[in-house]
Amino acid sequence: MIEGRIYNFSAGPSILPEPVLLKIRDEMLNCEGSGMSVLEMSHRSKVYDNIINAAVQNVKDVLNVPDNYKVLFLHGGATGMFAALPMNLGVKTGSADYIVSGNFSGGAYKEAKKYLKDARLAGSSEADNFNHIPTQDELTLNPDADYVHCCWNNTIFGTKFGYIPETGNVPLVADMSSSIMSEPVDVSKYGIIYAGVQKNLAPAGVTLAIIREDLLGDVMPITPKIWNFKTEAEKNSMLNTPPCFPIYVVKLVTDYLKEQGGLEVMKKRNEEKAKILYDYLDSQDFFKTTVNPADRSLMNVTFRTESDELDKEFVAGQAARGFSNLKGHRLVGGMRASIYNAMPKEGVEALVEYMRDFAAAH
Ligand SMILES: *Cc1c(COP(=O)(O)O)cnc(C)c1O
Repeated sequence: MIEGRIYNFSAGPSILPEPVLLKIRDEMLNCEGSGMSVLEMSHRSKVYDNIINAAVQNVKDVLNVPDNYKVLFLHGGATGMFAALPMNLGVKTGSADYIVSGNFSGGAYKEAKKYLKDARLAGSSEADNFNHIPTQDELTLNPDADYVHCCWNNTIFGTKFGYIPETGNVPLVADMSSSIMSEPVDVSKYGIIYAGVQKNLAPAGVTLAIIREDLLGDVMPITPKIWNFKTEAEKNSMLNTPPCFPIYVVKLVTDYLKEQGGLEVMKKRNEEKAKILYDYLDSQDFFKTTVNPADRSLMNVTFRTESDELDKEFVAGQAARGFSNLKGHRLVGGMRASIYNAMPKEGVEALVEYMRDFAAAH
């Protein structure tokens, strides 16, 4: 780690790879020989055109995106997609199935109800405070739905899908905001994959959407044109000024992922890192994790002590150890360590060392 930086366990916006930060710094005054920074240039310039095209191509390369999918950069974050999805896809039967496995999928379901005739709750683990992912057997799916929505990795609760829901001919839509590019994905199993980039790919400001081409078609008449997937696909995500800077960082981060050897390598590293933390959690009973072991997230690890006071003390002690953002989300309490791609293994080891010391001292 570079001198002066700390281990940042933030759930989002979150840690970025240091080589990428250095590259941004190096190009800040003169990007690609243009004599200006990416912050200052026209999105219609040749230099920027190359940047956005390279970002799209990198996403295709890294995620092995089949040819019949479009890669888009959209506005409004993942939350914007909660509205854009029903407007774009909910036009055949006006019915869609929502699997609610946490706060964000609950938010997506609630938003969809505003636009759909029939937003259905197809499965939920809310009764268990989202400590697991609903199983395929627990889902009641409508074979005529326009789409099925799920949230792949539950950032707040620390769970992730261990199976791809079987939806027959109904397109599966997945919010992968907090797991995108943490491991390989079989894109062909999904109608749409989308992600706010501020967890694992870039600073906040743009939404990555990977959309199967047959889903680009008629939309609800009320659809804002900046959220019309078909129009945005035709305009290469530049119907209006795109979020130029985060798209540029997506390009740099995906360059970096390619250099590192791609998503098989990231998956191996992420599993190694998560294992260090979960092995420790399983080896003692001072800290507890309530997540169903089969559904544990590789990216967001939640845990707590037996009391709110000790949790508070643990969080208060983080700065002295060179950590930040270990406080859990208010819906869960306790602690959360987000260990995205850019978190080095040493950061996780140092955290476990702090946990051991803290448990011994109490
Ligand atoms: C952070 C997050 C969101 C919200 O993203 P915004 O871009 O802030 O709207 C949605 N879904 C998941 C899984 C997230 O982690």
